[in-house]
Amino acid sequence: MSIAENLAQVRKEIEAAARRAGRDPAEIKLVAVSKTVPAEVIAQAVEAGVDALGENRVQEALGKQEEVPGAAWHLIGHLQTNKVKKVIGKFELIHSLDSIRLAREIGRRSQEAGITTDTLVQVNIGREESKFGLPREEVLPFIDEARKIPGLKILGLMAIPPFEEEPENARPYFQELRSLFEEVAAKGWPEVEMRWLSMGMSSDFQVAIEEGANIVRVGTRIFGQRQ
Ligand SMILES: *Cc1c(COP(=O)(O)O)cnc(C)c1O
Repeated sequence: MSIAENLAQVRKEIEAAARRAGRDPAEIKLVAVSKTVPAEVIAQAVEAGVDALGENRVQEALGKQEEVPGAAWHLIGHLQTNKVKKVIGKFELIHSLDSIRLAREIGRRSQEAGITTDTLVQVNIGREESKFGLPREEVLPFIDEARKIPGLKILGLMAIPPFEEEPENARPYFQELRSLFEEVAAKGWPEVEMRWLSMGMSSDFQVAIEEGANIVRVGTRIFGQRQ
């Protein structure tokens, strides 16, 4: 299967999942996750209509940005505070905001550059030792503090639930993130705009969409198995 064929199939499944949930497929953004994929292959995806690419390593992403024009870039992996300087102005959305120290550094560097950086708060929805993100109960107090930082904008939540062989088993995690998303929105904080709910990957994006995701991050189903 070519990249274009994979992409067409993924789009079809996104559309079907949206319709099952009574949602407009047009409101769901596909981020094609291109980590480890070489630039010339990513270019084929852009050629086939991909307009957002997800990378989890800063250095790798910055290199590819030079080589692959024509799409927006999303940082979906953990961001170290000492790398913030490099990412300012380079990503449409940072999905991995997970500490107040990081939030302050993004705000400070963004202000220096005269811009605002859009972010999602990463939630460790399965409370896994091995995963980044804030535990659920810290999310509201965190956002209440981070929202006041100039240069930083919070636009939603992101999570990577525990790996499940059976996609259906991820559903409760997606429901929990959705309910947290609603809770934040209900606070009505003026600086916060709950626009994006980033959840769902190759194995479970259909379930995530049924549960309210409006960004799905799909790598393997588009580019094939990673090395
Ligand atoms: C790698 C990765 C993905 C994509 O995973 P696939 O299973 O290949 O679709 C999505 N989100 C994050 C944060 C990732 O690191």
